[in-house]
Amino acid sequence: MSDLSGKHGLVVGVANKRSIVWAIAQAAERSGARLALTYQDRFEDRVRELAADLSQPLVLPCDVTNDAQIADVFSVIDREFGGLDFLVHGAAFAPTAELDAPFVQTSREGFRITLDVSAYSLIALARGAAPLMVKREGGSILTLTYLGSERVFKNYNVMGVAKAALEASVRYLAADLGQHNIRVNAISAGPIKTLAAMGISGFSNILGVYRERAPLARNIDAVEVADAAMFLLGPAGRAVTAETLFVDAGFHVMGF
Ligand code: NAD
Repeated sequence: MSDLSGKHGLVVGVANKRSIVWAIAQAAERSGARLALTYQDRFEDRVRELAADLSQPLVLPCDVTNDAQIADVFSVIDREFGGLDFLVHGAAFAPTAELDAPFVQTSREGFRITLDVSAYSLIALARGAAPLMVKREGGSILTLTYLGSERVFKNYNVMGVAKAALEASVRYLAADLGQHNIRVNAISAGPIKTLAAMGISGFSNILGVYRERAPLARNIDAVEVADAAMFLLGPAGRAVTAETLFVDAGFHVMGF
């Protein structure tokens, strides 16, 4: 049921081989999809190297704070793919200072940047993707979030606020775009050692706490997130929208 053959997808947020959305890109390609990957300038070489493993990918620059670059991405996709079936969004950023200082010290500029890159970008990309998905009579949009949107995790700080905004945006986008058979969902992943995660101090301790307390008594990996993503992107998920699906070995239900 995770057959994506003949489908075209856009994947935003690959930095390197550990990126969660890289695992999703690989799974989507194995399921038969043809992909467009975008990169932030500083990761261009690594993303192009990874993309060499895919068959006929489009590889395009996109800083998600840049509306002109977003418009260019969708115009190239429209020209090359003639439409779009799915979008995977994995862009997130907070300035280091905001993750190190107490939350009450969050600066106006740090808040703006974090919310712009990590939450608003989903809205901007969904707006660009929607007309191309209408050409395919529907589509699936997926983003990645974290439990820090609902609970307080030390050092997650303004990123938790951005994830709350992101999850609310998933619901509002799902309500807007459902009339076009476009679904919008999030996966709330357990902690995985990636470049973004390494910016959060004490991250290794978090991994240990999850292992200790999660019902499955272990951590999860990016391939497991990708498997769940195939459900939400593919035909098996066709009646699921506005949902946040936890892929965290059950950690989110535990008290202490
Ligand atoms: P990652 O560092 O591999 O990916 C983060 C991506 O954001 C990078 O590709 C980076 O280029 C991109 N990005 C940052 N600023 C950008 C900008 N201005 N324009 C375009 N792209 C930009 O790390 P990851 O852990 O794979 O993160 C992917 C998503 O998963 C993020 O939303 C993250 O919050 C979420 N997530 C991660 C974990 C975890 O433990 N790793 C857990 C739950 C959710």
